Amino acid sequence: MKLAERFLVKPGRKIRLARIDPADTAGVADKSAAEPRLEKNLKRLAELQYLMYAENRRSLLVVLQAMDAAGKDGTIRHVMTGLNPQGCRVTPFKAPSEEELDHDYLWRVHKEVPRRGEIGIFNRSHYEDVLVVRVHDLVSKPVWSRRYDQINGFERSLADEGTAIVKFFLHISREEQKRRFEARLEDETRHWKLSPADFEERNFWNDYQRAYEDVLSRCSTPWAPWYVVPSNRKWFRNLAVSQIIVETLEAFRMKFPKPSFDVSKMKLE
Ligand code: AMP
Ligand code: MG
Repeated sequence: MKLAERFLVKPGRKIRLARIDPADTAGVADKSAAEPRLEKNLKRLAELQYLMYAENRRSLLVVLQAMDAAGKDGTIRHVMTGLNPQGCRVTPFKAPSEEELDHDYLWRVHKEVPRRGEIGIFNRSHYEDVLVVRVHDLVSKPVWSRRYDQINGFERSLADEGTAIVKFFLHISREEQKRRFEARLEDETRHWKLSPADFEERNFWNDYQRAYEDVLSRCSTPWAPWYVVPSNRKWFRNLAVSQIIVETLEAFRMKFPKPSFDVSKMKLE
């Protein structure tokens, strides 16, 4: 079965994260079995990027969301390494600046959407506006409740105009997060990755899981599907994300554009 099919959140389906095993590996035995497949995907991804750039008709937006330490940065590092930096841009979304807060929540997001021919990667996204914002009551419930429909409409308009969208939730267990935080505590070169705020957020684990369940249940659409990627095993996470992106781009059946002139008549003096 295609991984895209296996981990897709079917539009309209209600998701319960507790029922999805974060340690699932879809039958792939171990890291050494995953590695050659990852290599193959990265090679194919580079070819597809080149084709998309040549075609110059559509763009691809990859959205990454997850609990802290679930591996958003690692996924970007491992899966996007094969891409040509000229046609690819990563945008991290942090707590909004004063200027950003003076606008609607989609303002800063829309500006970063990839242009035709390019791949854009969002490290966090407009979904924070129904996640952290909801968990910490940063706006009132009536305000965040209507955002699910607004987000679906926003993504629909992007898709209609040629931006393909794939969204990944990197699913880890609470115990796995603890192990990863502990590993960071023990390794001096990774202390910079620690923040007291992340440890605080751990206390809101259940609230976040519920907020994610609503996002996944309400905002997986035919034009901008969500995928829940079991991410306790980093090697499987990298394999699954790379493969789903490849499968998405393959489905476009892109072709190199025909030149608008007769190449056989071109002469070099
Ligand atoms: P990191 O991705 O670890 O660098 O952390 C970025 C932080 O910015 C996280 O704690 C996010 O929850 C926070 N953040 C991102 N977007 C928003 C938002 N719209 N409102 C409030 N906090 C946000
Ligand atoms: Mg962080």
